[in-house]
Amino acid sequence: MKEQYDHKEIESRVQKHWEKHETFKVTEDIAKEKYYCLSMIPYPSGHLHMGHVRNYTIGDVLSRYQRMLGKNVLQPMGWDAFGLPAEAAALEHNTAPSSWTYSNIQHMKNQLKLLGFSYDWSREITTCQPEYYLWEQWFFTQLYKQGLVYKKTSPVNWCPHDMTILANEQVVDGCCWRCHSVVENKEIPQWFIKITHYADELLHDLETLVDWPENVKTMQRNWIGRSEGIELYCKILNSTKRISVYTTRPDAIMGTTYVAVAPNHPISHQEAMKNPVLKEFIQQCYTTKVLEAELTKTEKKGILTDLVIEHPITREPLPLWVANYVIMEYGTTAIIGVPAHNQHDWEFAKKYQIPLKPVILEADGSVPDINKCAMTEKGITCNSGVFSGLSYDQAFIAIADKLAENHLGKRKVSYRLRDWGVSRQRYWGVPIPMITLENGSTITVPEDQLPVLLPENHLIDGTSSIINTDVEWAKTIVNGRPALRETDTLDTFMESSWYYARYTCPDYHVGMLDPAAANYWLPVDQYIGGIEHATMHLLYFRFFHKLLRDAGLVHSDEPVKRLLCQGMVLSDAFYLTGSKGECRWIEPSTLTIQRDSQGRIIRAIDLSGNTVRYAGMTKMSKSKKNGVDIQTMIDRYGADTVRLFMMFSAPLDMTLEWQDAGVEGAYRFLKKVWKLVWKHVHTRMLSISNSDKFHHELQILRRDLHKTIFKVSHDIGRRQTFHTAIAAIMALTNKLVHAPQNTKTARSFMQEALMTIVRMLHPFTPHMSFVLWKALGGAGEIDYAPWPEVDQLAMIEEQILVVIQINGKLRGKIMVMADSHPDHIQSLAQKVPTIQKYLRDVKIKKVIYIQGKLLNLVVSS
Ligand SMILES: [Zn+2]
Repeated sequence: MKEQYDHKEIESRVQKHWEKHETFKVTEDIAKEKYYCLSMIPYPSGHLHMGHVRNYTIGDVLSRYQRMLGKNVLQPMGWDAFGLPAEAAALEHNTAPSSWTYSNIQHMKNQLKLLGFSYDWSREITTCQPEYYLWEQWFFTQLYKQGLVYKKTSPVNWCPHDMTILANEQVVDGCCWRCHSVVENKEIPQWFIKITHYADELLHDLETLVDWPENVKTMQRNWIGRSEGIELYCKILNSTKRISVYTTRPDAIMGTTYVAVAPNHPISHQEAMKNPVLKEFIQQCYTTKVLEAELTKTEKKGILTDLVIEHPITREPLPLWVANYVIMEYGTTAIIGVPAHNQHDWEFAKKYQIPLKPVILEADGSVPDINKCAMTEKGITCNSGVFSGLSYDQAFIAIADKLAENHLGKRKVSYRLRDWGVSRQRYWGVPIPMITLENGSTITVPEDQLPVLLPENHLIDGTSSIINTDVEWAKTIVNGRPALRETDTLDTFMESSWYYARYTCPDYHVGMLDPAAANYWLPVDQYIGGIEHATMHLLYFRFFHKLLRDAGLVHSDEPVKRLLCQGMVLSDAFYLTGSKGECRWIEPSTLTIQRDSQGRIIRAIDLSGNTVRYAGMTKMSKSKKNGVDIQTMIDRYGADTVRLFMMFSAPLDMTLEWQDAGVEGAYRFLKKVWKLVWKHVHTRMLSISNSDKFHHELQILRRDLHKTIFKVSHDIGRRQTFHTAIAAIMALTNKLVHAPQNTKTARSFMQEALMTIVRMLHPFTPHMSFVLWKALGGAGEIDYAPWPEVDQLAMIEEQILVVIQINGKLRGKIMVMADSHPDHIQSLAQKVPTIQKYLRDVKIKKVIYIQGKLLNLVVSS
C-alpha cells in the first residue's frame, strides 16, 4: 500500500474489481437468510442530485452491513422511465422522449457506479421497455376481468398546460404539481381501478407496519379518511324526490338550519335551467375549483334555490342552497348545514344571515358562545327535544335508530379515498390495453396480442399524444371486425407500484412474477425514500401488493417491512434583488464568501463586486442554483468522503446541511485512518519487546474497542442512527493514534483494532476499506467479510476493592471500576451509610488516592 491516501486510484481500481467479479449479484439461496434493501426507483431526469446520493448511500450502508452479517442481500436499481418531463425535454431538444430518457439513464448509471453502490446490476429494470410494461398491461386486463377496473365519465382535474388529467394527489394548492398551472375541471371518460375496495384493509394493515414512521401512517390514515356517520334521505317538499346527505355528526342533527349541495350535484344542474344566476355561479365553481385541502381558506359562497327540504326528524322546512364549499367528489355531494357546530357552515351562515342553533353543550355544561366561531367539540346534547341530554355515542345511536325506523336514514361508513383514475392523455406512457368494438362495448386486448407497443423514436409536437392524433395507430381487428384501441396511457404511478416485485425476477418470461423468487425475496426488508411519497406512491404500492396477493402471485400482505424517509439536503443560497423586486439566484461557487471564526457567513461578493444577499440554508435546487455538483466532489475528495460526510452530519430523517468544512473533516478523518494502517503495516519489522508494561492500558483500549463494536452494530442495524455510529468509530480511532505500539501484545491489539475499524467503516467507505482490509492481511474480499463480533469478556469492566480511610483510619471498603476517577470513588463512598456518619458536619480538606488501592479523606470538624 502507498503511504498517501489516493482516493482516485483506489476508487477506480476497486470499482473495476466489483464490476469484473459481479460481486453483488445474488440468486435465491434458501440456506441463507435473505435481506432485500430497496431505495425508491429514480426518475431519469439527467443527473443525480445530492438528495439521491443521500437516499442511496443509506440503502448501501444497510445492504453492506447486512451482507457482512452473512445474509443474502438483494439491492437492485432501475429507472422509472415513463412520464411527462421526457416529453417536455424532447420537445425542447428536438429529439424523441426515448432517446432523451436512455441517454440520461446511461449518464446516471455511471454516476451511481462512481459512488460505489453495491447494486446487482443484472436486475436493472427500465419501465419504458416492453419486457416490463407487457406485464403491467397483462395485469390490468386481469383486474378488468375481476371487475376491479371500470370506465366512467367523471369530473377530472385538468391541467391546461400539460393537456392531461391529474390525480387528486397531483393537485397542489389548486395547481398542477408539475407545471403549477391552475387546474381546471373537465368531464371526460376515463379508466379507474377500485382502490376503494381495499380501503378498509389499507387502513387496518397500517397497524401491522410497526417499523414505519408514525407520520407516514398518519398521513395515510387521513388520506383514506374513514368516517362513521349516517346517510340521510331528505324529502324535497312538493316533490317525490329525495336528497341523500351524509353526516358524521348525527348528534348535532337537531341544529340543522339549511341543506346545501355541490355545484355539480344533479339538482344544481336541474335548478340552473330556470335560474341564470345559478347557472353562472356553477360555471364559476367549475373554473375555480375548491379543493378539500384549501377549504379552510376559501371564501364560502352560495346561491339559494327555490327548493325546500323537510328536516328528517322535526319535519321543519329547510332552505336548499348550492354552495361552493360542498366538495364535488367526496361523500354524497350534499350536506346538512349545522352552523353552530361546523366552522365552514358557520362562515357560510354568517355571510347569508342563516340562523344558528346550538344543540351541543360545552364541557362545563354551559350553552356555547357561537358569536365568534362554531363550537365543534363533542358534548352533551341540548335543545334537541327527546334527544336532549345525551352523550355523543348515545345521541348517535338514538338518532340513527329513529331515522332507520322511519326509513329516513341508515348508518354508513364512508371513505375520503376515491377510486384511482389511471387514464392519461399523454404519449410517453404505457398504452392502456383496451379495445372499443363497433357496437361501443369494450374488451381487453387479447393476451396473445400483448404487449400493446408504444411507438418509440417519435418526435413530438408538445401539445398532444401521437397515439391520440395518429388515427391509424388506434385501428385494429377483432374477430374480423374493425375496432379501436384505447389511446390513453396509464398513470406512471402504475409502473412504480410493482417494480419492487419484478426485481425479484426481472428476466422471467412466462409470467408477471416467478412465485418462487418473489416469495423468497418479498416482502422488502427495508425501503428508503422521500417523505413526499407518503400518500401517493406508498399507498398505491401497498394497494398493488394486495392485488398481487389476491391474484396468487405473492403470499405476504404488505410489500415493505421497514420504511425510512430521509430528510432533505440543504445548502447555502444567495441572491440579488432584481429591478422588479424578484430574486436572482447566484451560484455560490462564483462568489467570494467571508466567514467569522465560527464559520458563519458574514458577507458574500459577486464577480462584479456587488454584495449579495444570503438566503440561509435552503433545499438544494436548480432554481436556487445552490446544488452541489457530485462530480466535482468525487473528483476532489472521492466517493468515500462524500458518503461518510452525508451519513455523519445529520440523523437520517432530519435535514442535512451541506458544509464544505464538514466534507473536509470527513476527508481528514479518512487520511488519518489510512495513515494509522500504513504505520502499523510498515513498522511490522521493528524490534518488538515481550514486555507487558501496557497491560492495563491495553485492557481498557480493548474494552473500548468492543464497546464500540456493540454500539456501532446497534446504531446501524437497529436504531439506524449512522451519525452516532460514525462518531463512535472516530472516537475510537483517535484513541488508537496514541496507543502503545512496540510490544507484542500492543501490536496484536492494534492489528485487531484496525481490522475491526476497517470493517466497521466498510458500509460507509467501501473503497478505502477494501484496500486497507487487504493491506492488513484480511481473508478474501471485505465485501463478504464477517462483521466484527463483540467479545463479551472484553466488555466486562474490571472491578477492584478500594479501602476508604478517614483521617488515616479504616472506615470501609467499596468495589469500583478499575479506571474510576478519585472524585467518583469519593462520591460513592459518601453514599455508604457506615462511612457517611463520619462525614457529617465535617469539611473535607484533602483527598489522597493511591491508584487502585486506597482513598484517604482528610477532614476537620
Ligand atoms: Zn401541468
